[in-house]
Amino acid sequence: MSEKINILLNKQTLTKNDLSYLLSLKNEERDFFLRGVGNKYVETLGKKVFFRGLVEFSNYCTKDCYYCGIRKSNSNAERYEIDDKAIVEAAIFAHENKYGSLVLQAGERSDTAFTERITKLLKEIKSVTKGELGITISLGEQSEETYQEWFDAGAHRYLLRIESSKRDLYYQIHPEDKKHDFETRINCLKTLQKIGYQTGTGVMIGLPFQSYDDLAEDLLFFKSMNVDMVGMGPFIEHTETPLYEHKDALWPIQRRFDVSLNMIAALRLLMPDINIAAATALQAIDPMGREKALRYGANVIMPNITPTANRKDYTLYENKPCTDEGAEDCSNCLGIRVEMAGREIGYNEWGDSKHFFKRQNKKK
Ligand code: SAM
Ligand code: SF4
Repeated sequence: MSEKINILLNKQTLTKNDLSYLLSLKNEERDFFLRGVGNKYVETLGKKVFFRGLVEFSNYCTKDCYYCGIRKSNSNAERYEIDDKAIVEAAIFAHENKYGSLVLQAGERSDTAFTERITKLLKEIKSVTKGELGITISLGEQSEETYQEWFDAGAHRYLLRIESSKRDLYYQIHPEDKKHDFETRINCLKTLQKIGYQTGTGVMIGLPFQSYDDLAEDLLFFKSMNVDMVGMGPFIEHTETPLYEHKDALWPIQRRFDVSLNMIAALRLLMPDINIAAATALQAIDPMGREKALRYGANVIMPNITPTANRKDYTLYENKPCTDEGAEDCSNCLGIRVEMAGREIGYNEWGDSKHFFKRQNKKK
């Protein structure tokens, strides 16, 4: 059996069947596969991992994704909005603590007051950090003009998960309407690439109705879209969302966690030079979840630096980790955890996707 895994570890082009097989591995075979990828990845990419200070600055959202605790129709969600001053302070914290980069994330809004506010914020963060802090944003679907305006203001990476690349499944987890249109989401990814963003996407793992074959197709989708970064993690059900009614059909939570690590490792084989983030949702299941992801293929970790008072309200799913710690506690504990995973932190580095530069060079 490990002979078959050895062949796949060294195979040039992995097929859907190969990937499905790797995703379904359990026990000793799975350990063999994960360790194999871990060793191979250190040989090619090195030990460095990069920090992105994560600020979840608002949980107001105009959309109604069936899985998300901060969806518009959840009237029990306590809404919050962090003011610009506190966001800029968080950016300064990231800069002073040598994080290299910042991620700004929030519920989706596209009104002018919001888009203009973001433009102003991006410029201010760039200015107070002397252009040294890299900025990733994750603010959902926007018009090409807005994406361009934010790019010009200083954001250079964008995360927009496709959530599932299988159209049918996409509509089982989103309302089927203009605001949640599958093709629009794919077009947004293409627009981001056209503008020049390092473009990231991702999926949730262990959704109701999802199979290993679907997940294998997701990996092939990332490759066909030629993305530069991927952030993916386990689906964790939230009681106040429509998907909760399918809770009994879900894989056990440990299986969702294990398959998430398998996905990360399989993606590292498939796309050796992209950035892969160790999703926070991994830590909600296993206290060492993100560090395990770093061992088996992830090279980006996003310490939460959202001001503590608001963290508990950004509850996409329940039992979200680190909601009661200050940013500094979080960065100290992360540094130790990264070392325990046998990795080194690339302090003060943007840690851009190598794949992005190769893609750009090919275009020339
Ligand atoms: N609103 C933006 C968007 O949707 O792209 C950015 C913020 S959104 C909260 C970030 C990610 O959280 C989503 O892409 C989704 O994959 C993830 N998420 C939401 N609910 C989740 C859940 N119940 N379990 C795991 N991940 C979840
Ligand atoms: Fe809003 Fe993003 Fe949650 Fe969807 S996943 S409801 S867009 S915050």
